[in-house]
Amino acid sequence: MSASPCGVENAAIVASYRCKVAEHYWVNQRYKYIRLEADAPIARITKAGQFYQLKCPTTLEHEPFLLRPMSVYGAGPEDNRIEFLYNVTGVGTKAMATLLEGGHMDIVGPLGNTFTFSANYRRILVVARGVGLATMAPLIKEASQAGVDITAVMSARSPADLMEKEFLRGATADVRSVFDADGTSSVEAMEVLLRELIEQQRPDAVYTCGSHRLLMLLQRVLSDYPRITAEVAMEQRMACGMGVCLSCVRLFDCDGDRKFLRVCREGPVFPIREVVGEVEFG
Ligand SMILES: Cc1cc2nc3c(=O)[nH]c(=O)nc-3n(C[C@H](O)[C@H](O)[C@H](O)COP(=O)(O)OP(=O)(O)OC[C@H]3O[C@@H](n4cnc5c(N)ncnc54)[C@H](O)[C@@H]3O)c2cc1C
Repeated sequence: MSASPCGVENAAIVASYRCKVAEHYWVNQRYKYIRLEADAPIARITKAGQFYQLKCPTTLEHEPFLLRPMSVYGAGPEDNRIEFLYNVTGVGTKAMATLLEGGHMDIVGPLGNTFTFSANYRRILVVARGVGLATMAPLIKEASQAGVDITAVMSARSPADLMEKEFLRGATADVRSVFDADGTSSVEAMEVLLRELIEQQRPDAVYTCGSHRLLMLLQRVLSDYPRITAEVAMEQRMACGMGVCLSCVRLFDCDGDRKFLRVCREGPVFPIREVVGEVEFG
């Protein structure tokens, strides 16, 4: 179930899994990696771009009420193995960061849709920033296994935040790193870089995640390349993650028809060209 022009919801079977924390460690100062072993086969039903709702533990300091959405960073090769890479930021993720190896966590999913991807593609261009990197990792793996060439533009605050190894996980790619620290990640500089890459390499598809600014830039640049498939995995604040509470709706333009769609249910992957950047009311 890939991103469709007007958002078809994910009808896959969603379940709750009791997981054992098999591995859990800091990747850098802000991000942690967690590997879980679920109590049932989970890897083969989980696709790139999908996410799970995580039940973060209650600690003396933190009482997270809502489940937290996290993109799948990796699934398999064992049937019950699932991985997440997360930014330790607020109540839920700080509580999650205290989980010990051997402890347990409940997760619900898989939720949402997946990317449009074909093993017949020649090259894909992936543009990721921050946590977007975790979302894109399974797509990188799929493309690499299919023998599709990969260009990865990675944007970060500074080289210490980049996590190139965690992003590629052994895949070979033409990597272009840009940073806030030296100005190479500015919209102006990125536009030059992206236009150059697209013009020279002619990717079959472009994917992005992790930055609204990059999303809007890509939307503008790709309007000159209507034949390139272009998708974004959106990270909208959400509560239930299952389409009921409507807290994650965003406005989309589906062939001139403006519609509110639920990021959790019709997404999180949407065509870049359909995202409406700014909403004007009244
Ligand atoms: C599809 C998806 C995939 C994601 N993947 C990743 C990932 O791979 N790695 C990663 O680091 N982060 C990811 N995120 C972001 C991650 O979910 C947040 O960083 C995390 O929920 C923060 O939780 P917290 O308790 O630490 O922060 P807090 O800010 O303390 O709490 C945020 C919680 O409150 C909810 N919330 C806050 N405001 C609203 C609102 N207005 N309406 C409804 N609910 C609200 C949030 O959904 C969340 O449950 C993803 C988000 C989405 C939507």
